[in-house]
Amino acid sequence: MATLNNNFLKLQKNYLFVEIAQRVAKYKEEHPDAPVIRLGIGDVTRPLAPAVIEALHKAVDEQASSETFRGYGPEQGYEFLRQAIKDNVFQPRGVEIGIDEIFINDGAKSDTGNFGDILGTDNSVLITDPVYPVYIDSNVMAGRAGDINEGTWSRITYAPCTAENGFVPALPEKPVDIIYLCYPNNPTGTVLRREDLKRWVDYANETGALILYDAAYEAYIRHDDIPRSIYEIEGAKQCAVEFHSYSKTAGFTGLRCGFTVVPKEVTARAADGSRVALNPLWNRRQCTKFNGTPYIVQRAAEAIYSPEGKRQVQETIDYYMENARIMREALTAAGLQVFGGEDAPYIWFRVPEGTTSWGFWETLLTKYNIVSTPGVGFGPSGEGYIRLTAFGSREECTEAMRRIAANPF
Ligand SMILES: *Cc1c(COP(=O)(O)O)cnc(C)c1O
Repeated sequence: MATLNNNFLKLQKNYLFVEIAQRVAKYKEEHPDAPVIRLGIGDVTRPLAPAVIEALHKAVDEQASSETFRGYGPEQGYEFLRQAIKDNVFQPRGVEIGIDEIFINDGAKSDTGNFGDILGTDNSVLITDPVYPVYIDSNVMAGRAGDINEGTWSRITYAPCTAENGFVPALPEKPVDIIYLCYPNNPTGTVLRREDLKRWVDYANETGALILYDAAYEAYIRHDDIPRSIYEIEGAKQCAVEFHSYSKTAGFTGLRCGFTVVPKEVTARAADGSRVALNPLWNRRQCTKFNGTPYIVQRAAEAIYSPEGKRQVQETIDYYMENARIMREALTAAGLQVFGGEDAPYIWFRVPEGTTSWGFWETLLTKYNIVSTPGVGFGPSGEGYIRLTAFGSREECTEAMRRIAANPF
């Protein structure tokens, strides 16, 4: 008889957004006319850039003729896109990344989860807390998380990020092997300064730990002194793998494309004690389990790097960041302590004294008809906070803030 990977039975039942959807559905059932505004889920709402649409149409037409038809592409992605990434993402920042270190993916969620395939199940894992849930659940599935007890996993090290430490995680006291960092951060919307990130890179190089760096929101960084890639930090090519996504950068949440950078220098220890490069192993994994991102989608991604594409994509990012500014100002004026939203499309704020994440979440829903995300849903250190996203429409965003200003807490 077939048996299960029992680790799947350890996964927590109610995924955060399912719980939110259920609570909102119940509220709407009881108040069918309530003008509910959703500032909770992190999906984008603006359409794809015209340059992207044009590239898609052209690529579709190519598929209609035997001369230009493309079937299976390289598992690592087409060279035209990998070259465009090298030239437009890394070169301008003085980072030397080879195209054979760039792997086109079908989104950063898949690869942040998949990367564990080539890593031992005996590794100890560090996450920042609060955290994007995929890092934890994919490690639960792999058997690296241990057992859950009062909301924390026994074999995962949590690095709290709260207002008290300025949302800068402290280096661990006990040794860890794999470190997940996500900057700009989802859910807190905060960033790491160069010197803070350097401490993690130095730590990883000193101890042999591997950093899995999620740069899904790098396009939202506005301050020049904030690193947009971990490879801007000296020594990072020896210890870090970096995940990029076009989802939040260019509205590809439905198209599905991004890229993963695995430098040739980055290694992990084999059972015999030798250090083995991860790049060829990841290549082998991809060639076995992945047959490439669709050609037309890779052409769409390439279009982001044309002069018009760059300008159009920036306009959309500016639109979301203006939403973020409006929310920051309104919530600050309402007396809340607000974080994030300056180099990221997320606003993270502390709930008023005497309430909790879920308690204030209910207030926002029932008093203002605003759907938010309770910070505690992202981990224990998220208790006492709420996340709002800047991905809504300008109209909904300003209307939500108007309701708060008109009827203070
Ligand atoms: C949205 C998001 C991603 C992107 O996921 P895709 O699979 O590329 O859509 C990755 N990491 C974080 C933290 C995110 O919030």
